[in-house]
Amino acid sequence: MKIGVLAVQGAFIEHRNKLEALGAMCVELRKKEDLRNDLDGLVLPGGESTVQGKLLRELDMFDDLRDRIANGVPVLATCAGLILLAEKLSNDNHVYFGTLPVTVRRNAYGRQLGSFHVSQEMKGIGIVPMTFIRAPYIESVGGRVEILAEVDGNIVAVRYGVQFAMSFHPELDSDTRIHQMFLDACQER
Ligand code: GLN
Repeated sequence: MKIGVLAVQGAFIEHRNKLEALGAMCVELRKKEDLRNDLDGLVLPGGESTVQGKLLRELDMFDDLRDRIANGVPVLATCAGLILLAEKLSNDNHVYFGTLPVTVRRNAYGRQLGSFHVSQEMKGIGIVPMTFIRAPYIESVGGRVEILAEVDGNIVAVRYGVQFAMSFHPELDSDTRIHQMFLDACQER
């Protein structure tokens, strides 16, 4: 199985390490030519969504990636990746791929609470560690979006078909179950 890990900016190497440890083959997507690969899944890592969005346009990778996601290639999106997928941002006028019917608030925890760590229930998995870094959260979801986790009443993880998106960073903790869930979805497809 070949997974494309978006690598124009942000925390991609941790995703790659985790997926390879689980037996997947990874391709770092840095430039348009990298998209010649047939991909069974896509990872959109954390980082800075405005920078990632701008680079994807400049590198002419944006439309190809959006089309793959719209055509049903499974996606694991974390933090800035969630922002790239969201159909609407409540405190920012940008829309990037817009394939996930949710409204997301960027930097939702403010600057005071830049980073924090909790362990919380994730539907279908159990208690998982969750590391938040200048994280967004999901304010509302459209129909058929399944809520997978909430922290303090805020939605932090969802699934919509084969799009998995979360406001925290599962790649930064030793737990592998979220990446395994994503690989299982890639395998099924
Ligand atoms: N604050 C970042 C943004 O708005 C996301 C933070 C992250 O990915 N760790 O894009």
